[in-house]
Amino acid sequence: MNFHIVTFGCQMNKHDSERMAGLLARNGHTWTDDMDEADLVVFNTCTVRQHAEDRLIGNVAGLKRLKAVRPEMIIAVGGCVAQKEKERLLEKLPHVDVVFGTHNYVNLPQLVERAQVSTKPVCEVLDALDLPPNGAPSLREEKHHAWVPIVVGCNNFCTYCVVPHVRGREVSRPVEDLKNEVEKLVADGVVEVTLLGQNVNSYGRDLYGKPQFARLMSEINEVNGLERIRFTTSHPKDLSEETIQALAELEKVCEHLHLPVQAGSTRVLAGMNRRYAKEDYLRIVEKVYATLPEIALTTDIMVGFPDETEEDFKETLDVVERARFDYAFTFIYSPREGTPAAKMGDLVPHEVKADRFERLLKVQNRISLEKNAALVGRVIQAFVEGPSKRGNGTLTARTRTNKVINFSGGKELIHGMVNILIEEARTHFLMGRVVR
Ligand code: SF4
Repeated sequence: MNFHIVTFGCQMNKHDSERMAGLLARNGHTWTDDMDEADLVVFNTCTVRQHAEDRLIGNVAGLKRLKAVRPEMIIAVGGCVAQKEKERLLEKLPHVDVVFGTHNYVNLPQLVERAQVSTKPVCEVLDALDLPPNGAPSLREEKHHAWVPIVVGCNNFCTYCVVPHVRGREVSRPVEDLKNEVEKLVADGVVEVTLLGQNVNSYGRDLYGKPQFARLMSEINEVNGLERIRFTTSHPKDLSEETIQALAELEKVCEHLHLPVQAGSTRVLAGMNRRYAKEDYLRIVEKVYATLPEIALTTDIMVGFPDETEEDFKETLDVVERARFDYAFTFIYSPREGTPAAKMGDLVPHEVKADRFERLLKVQNRISLEKNAALVGRVIQAFVEGPSKRGNGTLTARTRTNKVINFSGGKELIHGMVNILIEEARTHFLMGRVVR
């Protein structure tokens, strides 16, 4: 069969989709970029925000007409929405053939085979992971880069978040397994890995000997041929001194830290069960900048948590001004069914949330531009990823600090390192020219 996978949500989902594609390819199926041509369409879903769920429903409903013309077409829905809402999903979308959860995507090829001979939808959603995912093949989107999940699940139970409910408790993969996987990836042409976890900083607590995240990075730093190590996401309460030192000392670990703050008010942070106060967060940021003055710091921020007041929101703006993030993923809070925060109601009116969101964006965009402008005139080493998304014949390269640089250059530069003189700064990217 020709198959196509549509992915919603976070990097963990992107990684899972690459594994699904690898498993399907190993079973003799072929990837197609054209969804209309596919015999099998897989949706890997996200339930963190209502918006992604609505888009999924719209997308799957849109395939109904295609399926009426080609009834042999198989539609499979997996990931977080399927894990949480399997019955409701089949009620809303009866033309779906396969429903599978977050813990059993490795069974996708077999579920598809069953669906081909079944008159009813095939549904398999497991409550927990039997074994951490390892060894499953992967069909990567980018030849040079691979996602490597080091810990799946989350033990933190932030009050607004559904992840622990759909991904389960933390399960870490042993250091040796991970090192072997990275070695294999490098043999396959990978030069950059991103170590993934909902909270990489609690890596290893469930393993024998409790190896810390910093130790894992130091082992992976030893892999010959690997050039860059990135990681995401770090919970501020668990960011250790050793991890900050590893960022500073291990030459392959890139100078970029994604450290979600979520809100600036200590009162709101307590309501979110984040287990740090505003000042704790700012102290960590200070320590990080003191150790790595050139690091790029990014974050996630939510506005409109159920009882957020104007004063609370101003605390968020204060953190943004003081932490000087290079970039912030900003969100408007929406209640997720089954979470403690949802029981508090959705108390901030939509227009207030929208106003705060705009004000936050304005401050953050100014700071992002200021930080990028400070790089003009510098020569920065960057890895050329490919043609730029702007589609104007330019190429895109990425710095160790995860900044995007667009520049003119020949295709022979793709997948190599170049030195670029930064000539112009925009809010979300840089422009420059290659220098020797
Ligand atoms: S740390 Fe909090 S926000 Fe992140 S996945 Fe876990 S519960 Fe959700």
